[in-house]
Amino acid sequence: MKLETLEILRCPVCKGELNLEIIEKRDEIIKGTLTCIKCGRVYGIEDGIPMLLPELAGMKKND
Ligand SMILES: [Zn+2]
Repeated sequence: MKLETLEILRCPVCKGELNLEIIEKRDEIIKGTLTCIKCGRVYGIEDGIPMLLPELAGMKKND
C-alpha cells in the first residue's frame, strides 16, 4: 500500500485512526502493522495489502 493510503484508512471496529509501523518497504509499504490508537487492535499489512478485518486483528492490550 502507499503511504497516502493511510490517511483514508480507519479501524473497521471503532473508526479510530491507525498508527503505521513499517517492517518492509520498497516503492510501497510491503509489510507492516497498523495499530488503532483508539481501541488498540493491531492489523497486519501483508504483500502490500492492509488486512483490516476485525476477525484477523490482534490485540495490543488486554483491557
Ligand atoms: Zn479501533
